[in-house]
Amino acid sequence: MGININDLLFLSDGYCYCCKEELYNKKYFCRTCLGLFEYVDTVKSIGEYKCYSPYLYTGRISELIQEFKFNNSVYLYKAFGELLVNYIINKDMKFDSLISVPLTKKKLSKRGYNQSQLLAEYIGDRLGIEILNNILIKNKNTKDQHLLKVSDRAKNLKNSFRVVNGDKLRNKNILLIDDIITSGYTIKTILDVLDKFEPESIKALTIASSKIESKYKFDFKNI
Ligand SMILES: [Zn+2]
Repeated sequence: MGININDLLFLSDGYCYCCKEELYNKKYFCRTCLGLFEYVDTVKSIGEYKCYSPYLYTGRISELIQEFKFNNSVYLYKAFGELLVNYIINKDMKFDSLISVPLTKKKLSKRGYNQSQLLAEYIGDRLGIEILNNILIKNKNTKDQHLLKVSDRAKNLKNSFRVVNGDKLRNKNILLIDDIITSGYTIKTILDVLDKFEPESIKALTIASSKIESKYKFDFKNI
């Protein structure tokens, strides 16, 4: 018996998490709202790594991601998590372990939750994939990358992540989960740190990918 994608998608809670219309088929998003999300299935190359993103960071889905991150709409993790589960199954991607992008203790206590960790935990629970929490630590309060000039972004992140119990990464197929990718520099920095511990493979997955104007693009070869 194959897995029925519809059975995986239509789990919960009786109303659309986007427009709040009542749903009779127990999806998280109604068909109309799903149709508003721009599905692009992007694969960004970040140096030697790949980052997969089903959606473009624009329009309604970008507003929802903002709400998820900054307006305490924590419940959206289920809806976004389910979109990512669906994406992983459709693409037949296989991973041994999931890691989320950490926040510093200070930022975590201010926000009250880590949106990337909630996504990773949802995906891990649904697909039975190990979640490696507390392996990757963010130990430096950095400025928000998007507020900085491109030339300052590398310096901002330097030495801001470290790994503990890195032996758990060895020979594993690792997927890093985040909400969005913009320039990709944060993700590149993290994957470089993880890669030192010799995983078998290492990729990233985000809900959405922003379009980047060329003047904001990194040349990863020269970092
Ligand atoms: Zn809706």
